[in-house]
Amino acid sequence: MALFANIIIDSPLKTNFFYSIPNDLKENLQLGHFVKVPFRNKKKIGCVVGFSSKVDFDESKIRQIEEIINLEIIVPEELLLLSKWISNYYFCSWGEALFASTPAVLRNRVIKLVKSVSTNNNCTDYKVTLKQQEIISFLKVQKEPIPIHQLIGENTFSSSIINTLIKKNILNLEHIKENNNEIERSSHSYLSQNIIKPQLTDEQSNAVNIISKSLIKFQFHSYLLLGITGSGKTEVYLEIIQKAIELGKQAIMLVPEIALTPQTVATFKNRFNNVAIMHSNLTDKQRFLEWRKICAGNVDVVIGARSAIFAPLNNIGVIIVDEEHETSYKQDRAPRYNARDISILRAKNNDATVILGSATPSLESYLNSLNKKNTIINLKKRVGISRLPTFHIINLKDEVTSNKKFEIFSDYLLQEIKANIKRLQQSIIFLNRKGYFPHLSCKKCGETIKCKSCDIGLTIYKSQNKASCNYCGYSIYIPKNCPTCKSENIIFKGFGTERVEQVLRLLLPNARILRMDGKTMTTSKKHEKAYNDFKKHKYDILIGTQMIAKGLDFPKVTLVGILQIDSSLAFLDFRMAEKAYQLLCQVAGRAGRSKDLGKVVIQTYNPEHYVIEHAIMNNYKTFAIKELENRKKLSYPPYCKLAKILFRSRNERILISYTNHLSSSFKKVALDMKQICLGPAPAGIEKLENDYRIQFLFKCNSNGQRKKLLELVEKSISTSKHIRYFIDIDPQSTI
Ligand SMILES: [Zn+2]
Ligand SMILES: [Zn+2]
Repeated sequence: MALFANIIIDSPLKTNFFYSIPNDLKENLQLGHFVKVPFRNKKKIGCVVGFSSKVDFDESKIRQIEEIINLEIIVPEELLLLSKWISNYYFCSWGEALFASTPAVLRNRVIKLVKSVSTNNNCTDYKVTLKQQEIISFLKVQKEPIPIHQLIGENTFSSSIINTLIKKNILNLEHIKENNNEIERSSHSYLSQNIIKPQLTDEQSNAVNIISKSLIKFQFHSYLLLGITGSGKTEVYLEIIQKAIELGKQAIMLVPEIALTPQTVATFKNRFNNVAIMHSNLTDKQRFLEWRKICAGNVDVVIGARSAIFAPLNNIGVIIVDEEHETSYKQDRAPRYNARDISILRAKNNDATVILGSATPSLESYLNSLNKKNTIINLKKRVGISRLPTFHIINLKDEVTSNKKFEIFSDYLLQEIKANIKRLQQSIIFLNRKGYFPHLSCKKCGETIKCKSCDIGLTIYKSQNKASCNYCGYSIYIPKNCPTCKSENIIFKGFGTERVEQVLRLLLPNARILRMDGKTMTTSKKHEKAYNDFKKHKYDILIGTQMIAKGLDFPKVTLVGILQIDSSLAFLDFRMAEKAYQLLCQVAGRAGRSKDLGKVVIQTYNPEHYVIEHAIMNNYKTFAIKELENRKKLSYPPYCKLAKILFRSRNERILISYTNHLSSSFKKVALDMKQICLGPAPAGIEKLENDYRIQFLFKCNSNGQRKKLLELVEKSISTSKHIRYFIDIDPQSTI
């Protein structure tokens, strides 16, 4: 009989804690239960990860578990083990990994009873008013009692009328357990379209056939679905999920948060019956109910962003990672996991199939396919009549000399936009900067005007008359004097979406222009409306950032203008060429999605740059081979196992001297193991939210070596309240 429970808590401490199990909990306590425990002089929530009948220290010092948070909430053992693996690989505590992979609401929600009503069939002959009749009619067609708060809130019935009807015995009052009806109802708005299943192309059915082979065998297999934009990867995903369900299996579909639009969700809800959604816009209650529904086995397909990889399904047949190269799959706080890599692991653990899909895969995944660690499947043709766009490069060096009036838009691009409006077609203008002027500096002393807490230049937002930090949100009125030398000679430079919009409105006063960026699209409702309005051709031109680069399908767009790609070509980081290439392909892919041929105009000061040249050729493989050579030469991933340790402190002096002190022991450990340690060096952003930041990089030749090295290195770090650090395994960037 177990007397003690092994408990993990949400803390960076890499220890498990033992608590004794009180008699009244012995019957019920299970592996995976969340429990309340005394911890130091506080109460904490922990999770049961093991039992034992004895402990190897003084039993009298052991404290007792106080209560089980919710008897019905049990984290499946597979997820307990997965989070343990994550803690080992990503250098965080088991508690951090587990708490990050389960919704917080599971730990603080007790199932409530809610007051609900239904109609009483043996009605008296009481004469009802019109308003009362409305409620009765509404309830008559419901299968189950409806919570009163919902009748008042969502259906806007009056509470006094409901109470009258209860008193008159026309409505039955019951106390029922909260159930998942509300979720189903609220998601009905997705079920608007009646989509006809399209005929698969030869390429698509070939892909489905290949993948089905491993799916049917219930064996782990990894596929890289390399399909150009518009080649219909989604249709392949849907077919495979369908097959998995027919085999009695379940599916996880990961999409980048930004692409998790109502349209995407609708596509899946229209095709499958039992779909659960996991994304950041859910309310706590929805999140709780979805998790429980999945756990109970009532779900065939889970669709969601990064964290959906932790969906508590127990019979996974296939995991799909769409746009697998997306950086948003990597979490930027502890645990710093990459959902793509966890997908492969989870598929392995479940003898399942994993599909990584992209038009521009990460070089990690592409190298894996060259090394036969995954099977590559190509979709080389666009579906239907749409063709790949043609490219036109504007050399801005020539433009500035020949076009005296040049400001943002080249003559060629402007004429193309005008012609496009005349042809009743739509245009997209892409640039990767928000705001009006992204650069502020002082002409006298040369200082860039920066955020007071970060090493980041302020951006002018003219419509708000503000200068703001795009990282921490710090904002001031547009400065009239240089904060350093008080000179009034401030230079405003560059352009962001806000300024592009204003300039374009002056150039084309009659054009209907829409802007989509982080400043204008503050809610998902606004986003959805903008999307629908543009699709319905209520606008001629869409100006936007990254937000418009992904997944949006506008059949009438035949022109895409790309401004300011040059800042993405300044190679500050080993992944920048890859990212710039991916961005160019994605944005270009928005053009010509129907019968009319699309055109992409790129304005650049670097027309011969190899990233641009390869993007124009639209041949991912030639780009990937070239870029892999570069990585190999410089020994960067995927040719080394990278790790970053970043130290931060409010006190710059202490930080510099401490990291210098660590440097010699770090380097000695690395040298002894024949691995590479670089640093200490200021992080790409040297100061962020008042913290100074200094980092070390480690390049290792295997996961095992990296693990061993970091364990040794971590031992020499002594934590203090002045200096904090984190370890980032497989970091997305070195800056
Ligand atoms: Zn800031
Ligand atoms: Zn100055």
